[in-house]
Amino acid sequence: MFDLTKWQRIVLKVGSTLIAPDGKGCSSRYLLAIAHFVVRCRAMGIQVVLVSSGSVAAGKHLFSDNVTNNRDVSITLKKAMAAAGQSEMMAAWDRLFDFPTAQLLLTQDVLQDHASYTSVRKTVFELLDHDILPVINENDAVSTDNLKVGDNDNLSAMAAAAVDADCLIICSDVDGLYDKNPSQHSDAKLIHQVDNIDSNILSMAGDSVSGLGTGGMFTKLEAAQKATAHGILTFILNGLKESSFNQLLQGQNPGTCFMPAETPMQEKVHWLTHTSQARGEVIVNNNIQAKLQDADLKLDYSDIVDVNGDFAAGDTVLVRDEAGKKIAKATSRSSSCLLYFLTSDDVDDSIVESAQISGPVIVKNELAVLETK
Ligand code: GLU
Repeated sequence: MFDLTKWQRIVLKVGSTLIAPDGKGCSSRYLLAIAHFVVRCRAMGIQVVLVSSGSVAAGKHLFSDNVTNNRDVSITLKKAMAAAGQSEMMAAWDRLFDFPTAQLLLTQDVLQDHASYTSVRKTVFELLDHDILPVINENDAVSTDNLKVGDNDNLSAMAAAAVDADCLIICSDVDGLYDKNPSQHSDAKLIHQVDNIDSNILSMAGDSVSGLGTGGMFTKLEAAQKATAHGILTFILNGLKESSFNQLLQGQNPGTCFMPAETPMQEKVHWLTHTSQARGEVIVNNNIQAKLQDADLKLDYSDIVDVNGDFAAGDTVLVRDEAGKKIAKATSRSSSCLLYFLTSDDVDDSIVESAQISGPVIVKNELAVLETK
């Protein structure tokens, strides 16, 4: 049991199967129960943010069958389907509510840049303050491999962290996480509660992928990992069943519940660990490992032995030790160009010393230590 009257804000992720169950445009078959849940939550004073997939599935029927039925649908065609389906999907949600909805289309680079990330966060809060329902999806039409979040499960966890949600609800087409794939094993058991998403739990996801969307159970577990690390209670439940939502409203767990971390990560550390992608690498000398937990840790030019990649000051980098072990993700206050110069063999020590005056390259509150098992 949990007390949903204490929730201030939730993120609800709805997958393509629920939006376009027949792959022929949007249907209200499953959305009605979800919309009813949203309305009930709002009536209880809980702010709701929707992360809705379904643009590709909703747009498919607008293109001729002989191209969409081809197994090798091109990426460009999928993007076109997403662009056309996005407005159908928004219209489907709009029809179900008598309050306004707002569309937010995000890409990895928006979430990547901490200033844009903060701007999205502020926009969502502003919408919520005006009782408008934010509906987030990936901007598939413009995303390239570099710009792609890739799946809406992870996107929903990033959104939940960005808006300080109390709970993330991932609506799936299965009842939750099973100890083995339920479509292959009749004795598969539903796991009701997960306190810690370790490698054993991750291995239960197998390689399941849902038909119309991008994610499977693995991306849902990744999302649960991201959200719980931020202190967000997470559910994976069956969105095909109206009873799932009734159970939630009664404070009961309808699927698998993932318990939030007792000590949530700070916002910037969470963003570095779970949202931001490293643009390059900084190799530091081995003495740094022992100092990683020091509250006043600072990495100077003299601590850096090598650099990989091409990044600007302010970008996220992966910090490795000299043996190549990943030890942290951090914001680099120097560009790779300057670091290449200062770490080169022929640079004079006096130049490195004078560069030091401008301050450290990495500081503790812009560094997230990576867990190594
Ligand atoms: N953004 C995709 C869509 O709207 C869905 C991605 C996913 O299913 O995870 O169709």
